[in-house]
Amino acid sequence: MSIGENIDKIKSNIDLIKKEKGLDYPITLIAVSKTVDEEKVMEAYEHGQRDFGENKVQELTKKESSLNNLEDINFHMIGYLQSNKVKYLVNTAKLIHSLDRKSLIKEMEKRGRNEDFIFNCLIQVNLAKEKSKSGIYIEDLEELLILIENSNYVKVKGLMMIAPFYEDVEKVRPLFRDMKKIYDELRTREFKNIEMKYLSMGMSHDYKVAVEEGSNMVRIGTDIFGKRVYV
Ligand SMILES: *Cc1c(COP(=O)(O)O)cnc(C)c1O
Repeated sequence: MSIGENIDKIKSNIDLIKKEKGLDYPITLIAVSKTVDEEKVMEAYEHGQRDFGENKVQELTKKESSLNNLEDINFHMIGYLQSNKVKYLVNTAKLIHSLDRKSLIKEMEKRGRNEDFIFNCLIQVNLAKEKSKSGIYIEDLEELLILIENSNYVKVKGLMMIAPFYEDVEKVRPLFRDMKKIYDELRTREFKNIEMKYLSMGMSHDYKVAVEEGSNMVRIGTDIFGKRVYV
């Protein structure tokens, strides 16, 4: 199947779930283009895809600079972010999904002030407390929220989670459900600089379960571009 057909297939799967579950909100599909060449990104773009996800700053900025002539193209930073790379995301990343610690806020404040740029972010939560993954632990979230409320160049637009991998995707359903509860609870509260607009969860392997449980932003690579080849 072509890239376009893959995108259509995912969208129709999502539409089916929306219908079944009676979900009336839009769900954003992010095509995860890490390791994928620009030609294939173009192919997806020509099919109407506008949001792309990268997990390395260098790869994101490279693709952004060669493709930013395309109208409305958006690059999302979805991978672990080192503080010393924050500066490269000024004017290149539409949304940073991996805000997960205080030191990043400090760096964003510094760069934001220098360049008069607002960093739009999602807070990455490590709900399963997997040692191998980044993301803030839930008990540390409130402290981070306070820091964000007191910042000038960081705006939070929601939450992100990477679920643990299980062959049986049903095993992650309770985690998606718990994240949705946290998201909904935060939505009832009034914050400065923080709104709960996006809940970014679901990848090729588990996006259907994630959408069923309330995700409104899915990050899909393999099911669009095929198996990644690392060189
Ligand atoms: C690579 C990646 C994805 C996409 O994974 P697939 O299994 O290829 O769909 C989603 N989110 C993050 C954070 C990733 O690094």
